[in-house]
Amino acid sequence: MYIVECDLKFCKGIIRGVLSKGRLYSSSADADIVVIGSGPGGYVAAIKAAQLGMKTVCIEKNATLGGTCLNVGCIPSKALLNNSHFYHMAHSGDLSERGIETEGVRLNLEKIMSQKTKAVSALTGGIAQLFKKNKITLISGHGKITGVNQVTALKPDGSSEVVNTKNILIATGSEVTPFPGIEIDEEQIVSSTGALSLKEVPKRLVVIGAGVIGLELGSVWSRLGAEVTAVEFLPTIGGVGIDGEVAKSFQKILTKQGLQFKLSTKVTGAEKSGGIIKVSIEDAKDPNKKETLESEVLLVCVGRRPYTDNLGLEEMGIEKDQKGRIPVNSVFQTVVPNIYAIGDCIHGPMLAHKAEDEGIICVEGINGGPVHIDYNCVPSVIYTHPEVGWVGKSEEQLKSEGVDYKIGKFPFMANSRAKTNNDTDGFVKVLADKATDRILGTHIIGSTAGELINEAVLAQEYGASSEDVARVCHAHPTCAEALREANLASYFGKPINF
Ligand SMILES: Cc1cc2nc3c(=O)[nH]c(=O)nc-3n(C[C@H](O)[C@H](O)[C@H](O)COP(=O)(O)OP(=O)(O)OC[C@H]3O[C@@H](n4cnc5c(N)ncnc54)[C@H](O)[C@@H]3O)c2cc1C
Repeated sequence: MYIVECDLKFCKGIIRGVLSKGRLYSSSADADIVVIGSGPGGYVAAIKAAQLGMKTVCIEKNATLGGTCLNVGCIPSKALLNNSHFYHMAHSGDLSERGIETEGVRLNLEKIMSQKTKAVSALTGGIAQLFKKNKITLISGHGKITGVNQVTALKPDGSSEVVNTKNILIATGSEVTPFPGIEIDEEQIVSSTGALSLKEVPKRLVVIGAGVIGLELGSVWSRLGAEVTAVEFLPTIGGVGIDGEVAKSFQKILTKQGLQFKLSTKVTGAEKSGGIIKVSIEDAKDPNKKETLESEVLLVCVGRRPYTDNLGLEEMGIEKDQKGRIPVNSVFQTVVPNIYAIGDCIHGPMLAHKAEDEGIICVEGINGGPVHIDYNCVPSVIYTHPEVGWVGKSEEQLKSEGVDYKIGKFPFMANSRAKTNNDTDGFVKVLADKATDRILGTHIIGSTAGELINEAVLAQEYGASSEDVARVCHAHPTCAEALREANLASYFGKPINF
């Protein structure tokens, strides 16, 4: 027999959700934990649970493991970004400027796509191996919570399998948010999923939404030859949390690369006509300013929403919030104490590493460990060229919170490695508390920002001051020296090399 604990504020829901089922305790179970969903949140949680000695079952409805991230998200998009960057370097004359003459450069889109598929298959197959290694039972099917201690897998062949379990972990992730009135056919009007598998390079591509995914996929197709226009309702690109100065600089760089932007503009409709899509747009502030854009492909990229279809939440008394997310407390318990939720289907940024971290600490918590995550230390990266990476507060956030801060900046133009690499776009900007020198945020735009930001995350997670980072020896010549110099500029007022 086992006992489930709960936070006081969540107990109201238990009365409705659990006691009504009369099964707060259970005496026998097939599993210690059933994880529903095998995305980065679910599969990592399942492995951690098994490593901690829990009898673990994972139920996945898709044919392959890995969820959005591995199948139609992080991994395929990065494969396309990487190879389209090489093509662009060869095609745009960048390589010949470096003394590498390439004549007759041709695009083989089919091969680019097959390399992407290979990367996806290797990684999704790798999770299956890890499941075997850790003795995790995988059940193929749609998981539905059919009791406080029970999940039923509805299998593709119409049969079902009931698993009795002590704990349930919901990691069902998210799905593309539809755009009202615009129907996605994944051929001509595509979501991010269709945009990862276009059969040819469109002459023109209109992207609705200049957030992280829209910019990454817009960059891919722009590099491969499409004329790309991104329409964004907000006045800046890059989505939520990006520092305003970085966003402006980023927009200038992408514009130089050929992307066009229509900011503070809203899309009001789209119509297919004779192989072309007519996209109606208007000024966000002045509806009299209207325009029609034409394109061969339209990419709808306005965000993602939690996916919790047919999960049995209502029957368990688990009410979703206004955004369709599953409310959880600080240890990821829903109102039903032995039913937990993590990843894209709960609050917080929709990011793979956030889902992974939640999965690990949630399971550790179930096993009596401490549960702590500082969402302010979860980094964001846009994998364009240059990349953009940030962690912590932006200048705009600090201003709105009335925090007295100082800025340390260092341009990659003055960094020896970036100069050697002929890759000098961007800068590092460190924001630190004026009184204590504690680092509050780091914002990087530069070709290696996605790697460099991890050093800033480590510093911030451990409460470092900018002097701490500035006094750490950094290998030379590396782009990381720019991060050190920005910290030096923050604490001492002046960097060395600029
Ligand atoms: C194009 C694109 C690029 C992205 N790039 C990045 C990036 O570079 N970095 C980053 O951090 N994030 C990126 N993301 C976001 C990232 O993919 C998600 O944040 C991450 O996958 C969320 O993980 P998750 O485990 O919560 O959910 P998911 O990855 O969505 O996994 C949920 C899984 O649950 C399964 N499932 C759902 N319901 C059931 C059910 N009832 N029964 C059984 N199985 C079920 C689903 O089939 C799925 O496999 C990107 C997303 C997209 C779309």
